[in-house]
Amino acid sequence: SDTVLDVDGLCVEYAGAGEPVRACTDVTFALRRGEILGIVGESGSGKSTLITALTRLQRPPAVTTAGRVLFHPQDGEEPVDLVRLTPRKLRALRWTSLSIVLQSAMDALNPVMRLGAQFVDALREHDRSMSHTAAWEEARRLLGLVGISADRARSYPHELSGGMRQRATIALALACRPELVVMDEPTTAVDVVMQRQILAQVLRLRREFGFAVVFVTHDLSLLLELADRIAVMYAGRIVELASATDVYRTPMHPYTRGLRDSFPPLHAPVTRLEGIPGSPPDLRALPSGCPFADRCPAVMERCRTELPLLEPHGGRSVACHLHDEGIRP
Ligand code: SF4
Ligand code: MG
Repeated sequence: SDTVLDVDGLCVEYAGAGEPVRACTDVTFALRRGEILGIVGESGSGKSTLITALTRLQRPPAVTTAGRVLFHPQDGEEPVDLVRLTPRKLRALRWTSLSIVLQSAMDALNPVMRLGAQFVDALREHDRSMSHTAAWEEARRLLGLVGISADRARSYPHELSGGMRQRATIALALACRPELVVMDEPTTAVDVVMQRQILAQVLRLRREFGFAVVFVTHDLSLLLELADRIAVMYAGRIVELASATDVYRTPMHPYTRGLRDSFPPLHAPVTRLEGIPGSPPDLRALPSGCPFADRCPAVMERCRTELPLLEPHGGRSVACHLHDEGIRP
C-alpha cells in the first residue's frame, strides 16, 4: 500500500479526579510512504499528546479511549493497529519500522557509552548476522551522513555539542532503516543555524532512505520549509490539513492564518511577530461551539453554538464555518 500510517478517530483523555479531560479528539489523517507531515500547534494543543499516543509512549493518566493507528509494513504484511499491539510486538517494530526522536537528545543517548558503540549495539541487535567490523563501518557512515566526522565515533555524548548530539540521535533513529520516524520538536534545543542544518539533513536523509516523517513543532515557519503537508491542531483537534504551500499561500482557518502571520519564514529577516491575541481555551471547560471563537477575528453567531468539524475542501480539509458560508477569511 502507498500509505504507511492511517490514523482514524483517535481520542486521548487524561483521567483525573474529576471529569476526564479530552486532550485529543477524533484525530484522523493518513501518511503516504516517504511523506513528511508536520503537526503544528501552541502548547496545550494536543500535538505532543497525539504523538505519544500514536507511538504508545504515553503514560497514565493519558489514555487512548477511541480510534486506531494502522501501520502498514512495507513488505506487504497485514497492517497492525499500534493502539492495540502487544508490548512485545511493539518492541519488534521499534527502530526497524518505527523510530522516535524526542525533544531532548540527551535522553536518547547513553551517557556512559561511546557514540559509535551505541550505533553498533542498535545495528547488531536488529541484524545479528552483521559483524562487529561492519557495524562500526556503518556507524561511521551514518554519523558522516549527519555531518559528524568518523573520529567522533569514539567520543562520549558529553564530549559533543548539543547540535551534534541531536544530529547523532537522528542518525541513530535511522540506523535500522525505519519506514516511519516520529520527531517531537527535535530542534528546540539548538540555535537557528544548527536547526536549519538539521532540517536540511533530514530532507537529504529522506531522499536517501525514503522514510516517512511525522514532525511535531510549535513553529510553523519550520514546517513550511520541511513538510509536504501540515496538520494544524487547536484544542485537541486538527482544524486544518493541507499542503505546506497551501498553508503558506492560502490558509483557510483563521487560526492557521494567525499562526502563519506569527512567524517569519526562515529565510526572511525577522520583523515584527504579529502573534494571535488571547490563549487557547481550557480543555476542561471547552465552549459548545468553535473552540477558537473567543480569539477569532471572523467569529459569527453560529460559531458560538455549532462545533465546526474537519471537512474536505478541494484536496484539503478545514474545520471552520466560514467555508460552508463561502466566505474566505
Ligand atoms: Fe472563527 Fe467561526 Fe471559523 Fe471558528 S468557525 S474559526 S469562530 S469563523
Ligand atoms: Mg510538546
